[in-house]
Amino acid sequence: MGALRRLATAFISATVIIGAADPDMAEVKGRLPGGKTVVVRLQFKKGVSISSKNLPKAFIAKSGNLPQWLYFEDLTPQGKRWALTSLFPQDKWTGGEVRHRVRWPKLESVWLISSLYTGHGQNYDKLMAANPKNPEVFKEGDIWRIPKVLLSPDFGGLAKAPDKSQPEDELSDEDRTVTFRAMLAYEKDAQGNYAAYRMRKGEALYSSVVMRFTDLVDAREVNELAIRIAKRSGIKDVRSIQPGQLIKIPTDCLADPFQPEGSRGLAEDRQMRAEVRRTTKIEAGPRLSGVRIVLDPGHGGIDSGARANGVWESDFVYDIAMRVRRLLELNTDAQVSITLRYEGIGFGIRDDIPAMTKEAVLLTTPPIPNDGESSISDSVNLRWVLANHFFATPKAADKRKTIFISFHADSLHPSTRGSMVYVPASNLVPSKYAWAGKGIQAAELKQGASVSFTARQKLEMEAQSLIFAEGLLKELRREKLPIHANRPIRNVINRSGRNFVPAVIRTNNAMTKALIEVVNLQNEEDAALLKDADFREQYARAIVRAIRAHFKK
Ligand SMILES: [Zn+2]
Repeated sequence: MGALRRLATAFISATVIIGAADPDMAEVKGRLPGGKTVVVRLQFKKGVSISSKNLPKAFIAKSGNLPQWLYFEDLTPQGKRWALTSLFPQDKWTGGEVRHRVRWPKLESVWLISSLYTGHGQNYDKLMAANPKNPEVFKEGDIWRIPKVLLSPDFGGLAKAPDKSQPEDELSDEDRTVTFRAMLAYEKDAQGNYAAYRMRKGEALYSSVVMRFTDLVDAREVNELAIRIAKRSGIKDVRSIQPGQLIKIPTDCLADPFQPEGSRGLAEDRQMRAEVRRTTKIEAGPRLSGVRIVLDPGHGGIDSGARANGVWESDFVYDIAMRVRRLLELNTDAQVSITLRYEGIGFGIRDDIPAMTKEAVLLTTPPIPNDGESSISDSVNLRWVLANHFFATPKAADKRKTIFISFHADSLHPSTRGSMVYVPASNLVPSKYAWAGKGIQAAELKQGASVSFTARQKLEMEAQSLIFAEGLLKELRREKLPIHANRPIRNVINRSGRNFVPAVIRTNNAMTKALIEVVNLQNEEDAALLKDADFREQYARAIVRAIRAHFKK
């Protein structure tokens, strides 16, 4: 980056500070009208910050005592414009639009450009659509056009806050699903049966069609289906779809609740909804006495889980689980068990997580290191076996007062964000199942590795889990924490043409169970949140409140 910076300094008014050795950061000295200079920083995934020293009042939108560093959002429109011109002197501001020239390809992204120039990272899709030829991976010198309709009003543009909140957002899971269903019409053409959908303003094929109406979540598969659907609908360019455009979703791709009348999938979904309405609460006092809780931090040890934007799943979701554990131990009488322990950290919580912890053990008897000696599927199976052991010993007074939570973080398309909660679809839970655990030495395998469920149990488990998931979303919403925009509660995943429930919640004896994808690591804002200890604490508190509400009279 050094050469690039020197090159850039030759013809600009702001001086690049040579010697800022951090590869994740660029610094310039922005020149003020009077001749003084102010340091402006661009940091990987953190965005722009400005030193408050020397900064004129007219540039600052914040009042009171100023911190040493101000965020871009703390500046007035005049200050923002100045900061952008200092960082990107080769941008062209003409005719009500901006032509942004990529200067630091390793530090810039569509999300960043979108948030700086349009005022919202969520305008990502629209910015992509306005620059159909640009690759998502930046090169120095790429030109990104921010047309007047997308430019922030701070800079004289017409951008509106994105339609982030859809009318469905505040609805319960059942009502939301019913509302989505009502948007579909069932038709037929030469290629067969399809569900017709009309695109609404601000919607993208990827998120508002594929992720909403099907059970696909894998980024590549979602993309492939979006392209297939675009073709079927006669759309040439997926990035220039207008509101009102007719979209044809092949019927066999639809998730159960969106299947046509008379289908088995729809019938099963309705049966489950009826069960939810019939389900009575499992009551425990405010201190959750008699409640058994198993917390399962996903991955760990040799397995980092998903990685993106400088964050990885394992350590960060472990920390949330540990914060939940601590809050439960401090404030309740619930029996709390953990499936996994990080060596050296134990059950402690950490504000800073500088590097991946390489050693973790599954807390079986004897403990089994998560070191890759046994496969990841062994590790996952051991977790439900272990949980079933915790639920069974000593004999529980009320087997229904059991809850299992597995903590994960997603790796979805960067334009989607927020929590997603998986519960087990009753029709995918086996009536009988035994896991041999070949070659694994653990006492828990003797009692806990075979399970059986009656049809009634399966339905009640799904219903209780769904009620808990709904309660958790309510707590997250109250805290204004991000929630996945399209069907944040799911009971099945479709991958490679196969429907399944994650193994860890599939044959788990807990009455209530959930696998939580806390955030989407591919989304920059989400990744930054997970890195933030305050967010992890806030999230843990929301989970504990949701557990309490679940068992409340
Ligand atoms: Zn995971």
